[in-house]
Amino acid sequence: MSIRSTEGRGQRYDSILDTIGNTPCIRINRIAPDHVTVYVKAEAFNPAASVKDRLALNIIEAAERDGRLAPGQTVVEATSGNTGIGLAMVCAAKGYPLVVTMAESFSIERRRLMRFLGARVVLTPKEEKGLGMYRKAKELAETHGWFLASQFETADNADIHEHTTGPEIIADFAGERLDYWVTGYGTGGTVTGVARALRRERPETRIVLTEPANAAIVSSGVGQERDGMGAPALSHPAFEPHPIQGWTPDFIPLVLQESLDNGFYDELIPVAGPDGMAWARRLAAEEGIFTGVSGGSTFAVAMQVAERAEPGSVILAMLPDTGERYLSTPLFENIAEGMNDEEEALSRSTPGYQIG
Ligand code: PMP
Repeated sequence: MSIRSTEGRGQRYDSILDTIGNTPCIRINRIAPDHVTVYVKAEAFNPAASVKDRLALNIIEAAERDGRLAPGQTVVEATSGNTGIGLAMVCAAKGYPLVVTMAESFSIERRRLMRFLGARVVLTPKEEKGLGMYRKAKELAETHGWFLASQFETADNADIHEHTTGPEIIADFAGERLDYWVTGYGTGGTVTGVARALRRERPETRIVLTEPANAAIVSSGVGQERDGMGAPALSHPAFEPHPIQGWTPDFIPLVLQESLDNGFYDELIPVAGPDGMAWARRLAAEEGIFTGVSGGSTFAVAMQVAERAEPGSVILAMLPDTGERYLSTPLFENIAEGMNDEEEALSRSTPGYQIG
């Protein structure tokens, strides 16, 4: 094997925003069953390290194009983190002030990242769940005349996945099998947009949707009550707080509803948060692939599908973000700061440089 070399990208970029998308599909080499081939699409390769960079850019640029967003107007959004971080990057690059509303229960590093990227973060009570932060954003927009990004309802969400994420998958698997594509949902933008593209161009690909086992609101079969704008009128009765940040708010988003109404998934497989965390740890420690809890949870379902898939099957799982976003969460709870017994023994196995 000769030394690896690189050639550069053959282009320079006019803005950080031009580096969004075109994330790699990466084969799993050590932890997948031998009779199938499993790939992951690693959205952490986006510049602000999550799938939501795509939607953030499109929400702003679509609103710029049709005049809903005026130069210098403040943007406001309710977000559990990744949309806020993506919007903060986009607003910083384009010069819009950003205010994010977020329930106080989400990880500390998310709010600090948004503030680092120049946004202001308004925390809302955790008892009020997703609906509380959502209503706060709406209230602020109406009172101050700000532009509400509306990620849960806007057509600009699924549209960008139909135009980027979906076509990327179709191009990367052109002429190859793609038997299963596995994803979770938060707003549903990823599943709805990619499914539009896959159903059109790869109708044989089975789409597997997943959601938290203890907040299986779609599996419950109970529909969502909405107001005239398509926003949720009530918290969904099957919702419970769950550990898969970024997934399943306490309502069925309008963007996801399109997937439900059009049969955009072939199977719905709930997953328990602890299983997702276990697989995120294995992806990191045994494949060198660093993803968050939703990525681990999606991969857990991909592994279930893999076990029963016919030999030769090809499976692709979405990994929405990086594990670095979860340092203060249960994902890292068994990762010590100090040395464990094994590390202490290693330290003592040579005479020098031992700490007191
Ligand atoms: N995982 C994480 C960590 C997320 O932040 C999100 C977006 N909220 C998703 C998954 C789901 O993506 P989508 O909103 O496109 O359904």
